[in-house]
Amino acid sequence: MTSIVVFCGSSEGYQECHRETAYGLGNMLAERGYRVVYGGAKIGLMGAVADGALDKGGDVIGVIPHFLRTKEVTHEGLTELILTNTMHERKLKMHELSDGVITLPGGWGTMEEMFEMLTWGQLGLHQKPMGMLNINGYYDSLKVLADTMVSEGFLKQEIRDMLLFSDSIEELLDLMENYVAPDVPQWVTKRTT
Ligand code: AMP
Repeated sequence: MTSIVVFCGSSEGYQECHRETAYGLGNMLAERGYRVVYGGAKIGLMGAVADGALDKGGDVIGVIPHFLRTKEVTHEGLTELILTNTMHERKLKMHELSDGVITLPGGWGTMEEMFEMLTWGQLGLHQKPMGMLNINGYYDSLKVLADTMVSEGFLKQEIRDMLLFSDSIEELLDLMENYVAPDVPQWVTKRTT
């Protein structure tokens, strides 16, 4: 991995730990020599990740659609800002520019970006490691849902395990660096035993 896309909230959340961890993630990615790719905003956790990486001298590429590029939203201090015509183009560009994915707490937008990348991985369209930074248990309920999908026969365990979880930035990066993508069909068939 040399370039990591970060999906996260355009809000900051109520608890200070979210902003602190997002900024710390940016710091650590720059220190480990990763290029950061993200949605190009200066607001919310998005801005905190970018600032964290830039403050440590890291490269940060923002990808934002023209219609979101208002003065209030766009981070003007990035290494590079790429403008796209649509949200779909934006996601494709972030995909093309990255070889690993980290998701921090966020809302629908964050979930949509993460799940699309996850389903592309499930279909074998990429082999990127995907890590959920589980700050303060934010994604515990997603873990429970994923396990229910497995126990109810809608998701294979190997595919479930594509999504890596940790509450520690260092541990998550270690898990991602050692990740090997599964080579299994995604469809679950009825148990015969
Ligand atoms: P949110 O998690 O809702 O704060 O959104 C975080 C990121 O997702 C921001 O970069 C938003 O521009 C983006 N986003 C919001 N809604 C959507 C959507 N429907 N499809 C794709 N990305 C979105």
